[in-house]
Parts: sequence; structure tokens; C-alpha cells
Amino acid sequence: MGMQRMSQRFRAALLSVLAGALVAYACASTGVNKGDFNLVSYQEEWQLGAQLEADIARQLPLVRDANSLAYINRLGQRLVAQTELAQAPWEFHIVADPSINAFNIPGGHVYVNTGLIAATDNTAELAGVMAHEISHGVARHGTEQLSKAYGFNIIAGLALGQNPPVYQQILAQVVGAGVFAKYGRDAEREADHLGVLYMYNAGYDPHGMVTMFQELLSRRQSQPGTVDEFFSSHPLTEERIQNTRAQIDQLPPRPNQILNDAEFPAFRQRVTSIR
Ligand SMILES: [Zn+2]
Repeated sequence: MGMQRMSQRFRAALLSVLAGALVAYACASTGVNKGDFNLVSYQEEWQLGAQLEADIARQLPLVRDANSLAYINRLGQRLVAQTELAQAPWEFHIVADPSINAFNIPGGHVYVNTGLIAATDNTAELAGVMAHEISHGVARHGTEQLSKAYGFNIIAGLALGQNPPVYQQILAQVVGAGVFAKYGRDAEREADHLGVLYMYNAGYDPHGMVTMFQELLSRRQSQPGTVDEFFSSHPLTEERIQNTRAQIDQLPPRPNQILNDAEFPAFRQRVTSIR
């Protein structure tokens, strides 16, 4: 990618992030990020995300099939439209990797492994995992954790590409283990809670998140090793599943929630046949 194209892309991204941040300020109805400690500005976060995205694309086997990417991006954008960062540029990627994992990195990028897609039974289960990852991104859990782990001087340099050792360390963790950050229980609870609301408001059946988490827990028993990466970054417990179910029970019944859509079976078939 040439420097000129890169800088145009950056400028476009920064402009829409600024717009998104203003919208977030105007209507942050769920109170996301209020009072949370974060040294990284939205502009810096999206800049860091763009650098990581470019390096990840060189180092991880990404699915390039245009139809598959169009599908997962439609699904992702439908969820993102319900969030406080709806105006920011988000992008959804598929990693050709049979292990069951999904992760977000700062700056609106979500990665889903082909192995996770193969483990889903319907659109709502895939939407459940994606809504959870999007929620980590909207709640800025990644950059909050960076802020706690590193001081202001390192963070400022990192986002501007001026701290290669720390940057390489973060990149190596993402590429090697499919993990940007190891989240604590509070972050998981918030991501579950927001994810259910985003699914519900987008018209997806939020029970998909429950059945997907149950599937992941049962695979930890039956096929340990296939879900290690996911569990190492997202501590998942029976209690979390119960809390999610209780939250869904409190929501007003909504007819015609999407459990499956017409394109899902062909999408899953196409993606899981990629070797
Ligand atoms: Zn999580």
C-alpha cells in the first residue's frame, strides 16, 4: 500500500472517528466508558488499529473470499449500528484457522476464526459472539488495559508508531495467540450485557449468545485444546451464561427476531471449506 493511499485512508478514518466520537458524546445512553481510565484518544486508538490491521494481514492467513467478507461485514455493521460508535469505521475479518476463537483489536476491528464459524448452528450464534467482541471494542476494554499496563509516555508513543518494542510485543501476542488482551470479570460482564442489547436492538435473537456460550463450555469438556485461545482471553463461566439468560428474560418480547437468515448456510459452507 502506497504512502499516499495510506494517508488518505487515515484521514478518512480520522474524520469519521471524530464524527463518531461526537455522536457518542451526544447520545451515550448506556453510559459506556463514563469514568473509565483511558489514556488513548479515539484518534490514537483508530490509528493503532490501522497499523495492527496492516501487520495482521501480512502475518495471519485471512480469508479473502469477497462474498464471505461481505456477509460477515453486513452482520457486523447491523450490530455496530446499534452502538455508541456507529459512525466510526469498523471492519470484520475472517481468519482461516480451525481453532474456535474470535477477538477484537483497538480501532474497530473484529476477527472471527473459520473454526468458530464452523461451530455455530445459526446466524444468531455467530451474531452473539460478534456482539460480544464489538462490545469489548465499544467499551474500549483493549485500550483501557493498555492504559493500566503502560504509562502515559509509552501509550502516546505507541499510538504514533514511536515505540516499536511495545508495539511488536502486542502484535506478536495477537498473531501468536489470537489474543489482544486478557479481560477481567467486569469487562466480560459489560461485554455480555452490551452485546445482548445490541443483538436485541438489531433484531437478532439474543438467545444465540446463550447457546453459543453453552457450546463453547461443552467443547471445553469434550475437545479441550480447540477453545483454549478463546477461554484465555475471555473467562467464561456458567454464571455468566445464567446472567445473560436473566437479562434476556427482562427484555420485552419481540416478534420475528432473527435466528437464521437465508444466506447463513451457504456462508458457513463456503467459509468452512476453505483450507
Ligand atoms: Zn470477552
